[in-house]
Amino acid sequence: MRKYDRNAVFNICIKALLFLAILSCAFCLMRLVIGCGMITSCAVSTAFAIAAVLLFSFLLRYTKFYYAYYFFVSLFLFRGKDGKVFCPCCNKHFSHFEDERFYDDKSCYDPATFTRFRQDVICDFCRSAPRHRIIAEWAEKNEGFLKESKILYFAPELSMMLWFRRHKIPVITADLFDHRADLKIDIMSMGLDNGSFDVIFCNHVLEHVSDHSVALSELHRVLREGGILIISFPIDSGSDHMRQETTSSAEERIRLYGQHDHLRLFGKDSRDMLEKAGFEVSTIDLADMPENIVPEEGPSDYDSNRIFVCIRK
Ligand SMILES: [Zn+2]
Repeated sequence: MRKYDRNAVFNICIKALLFLAILSCAFCLMRLVIGCGMITSCAVSTAFAIAAVLLFSFLLRYTKFYYAYYFFVSLFLFRGKDGKVFCPCCNKHFSHFEDERFYDDKSCYDPATFTRFRQDVICDFCRSAPRHRIIAEWAEKNEGFLKESKILYFAPELSMMLWFRRHKIPVITADLFDHRADLKIDIMSMGLDNGSFDVIFCNHVLEHVSDHSVALSELHRVLREGGILIISFPIDSGSDHMRQETTSSAEERIRLYGQHDHLRLFGKDSRDMLEKAGFEVSTIDLADMPENIVPEEGPSDYDSNRIFVCIRK
C-alpha cells in the first residue's frame, strides 16, 4: 500500500520550485538592477516569493485554474498506458487503484463501513471512485448527445470535470458552497427557468440536503421534458426503505448513516422514489462495467455504485 499521495507530493514540489525561482529572480533584481543591500534584498525577495506562492495556492484552491493545473500535472505524472486498471475519467492506466484514506477520520466517518470492504478503488490521479468511472463510461457512449446538450452539474466532481474538459463539452456547474462553481445555488430552490437544461448530473447530494423530495422536484422542474438526470446516492442494499431519523448530532449521524453530514440513507425503494418524482428510471450497475475500471465493490457498504439514469416524463 502506498503511504503518500503522489499529487500532494507533486504540489509541494511545484510550490517549492516556484518559491525558489521567484526568490532568485527577486534577489537578482534587488541586487543588480535596483542596487539594494544584502539584508534588504533577502527580506524583500523572500516576502515577494512567499506572496507569490500564496497567490498561486489561492488560484488553485478557489478558481478554475484547479482543473488546468491537473492537466499540467498529468503531463508529468501517470503517463503509463499498460496498467491493468483504467480510469476513463482521466484516461489513464495504473497497475492498481489506491486505498481510500478518508475513512480513517473517526470524527467524520464510521470506519467499519469502509474497512469491511476492499479499499483499492480510488484513481491515484483524479481521485475517481467507482461511481465516477461508471458515469464516465456512460458519458463516453453518449458523447455525441452530451455535446449537443445544455448540461448542469450539481456538486461538480474533479474526476468528471476532467472528462468534460478533455472532451471539450461545456458544463454549467452549480454548488451552494464551492467557490469554483458557475452558479452558487441551493438545489432545493435553484431559481432557474423551467425546462432549461437537457442533462443534469447530481451525485451524492440528496443525502446531504434537508428535504430530498424538494430537491428532486426542483431537478424535475429544471429539466426539459425528455431530458436526462444522472443521479446517485448512498444506498443500503440491506434496507427495503430509506432511513431518516430526526437527529442533530454528528455522532448519531455517523452511527446511523456512516458519515457525519449524511441526513439519510436510501434503501432498495430508491427506484420507486425517483419514478414517483416523475422520471422513467433505468440503472447502470457495477456488473455492467468493464472489469478494469471497477474491479472491486466499495469503498463503503453503502456505496452500491448504482447510477440512476432518469428521463423526465
Ligand atoms: Zn482518474
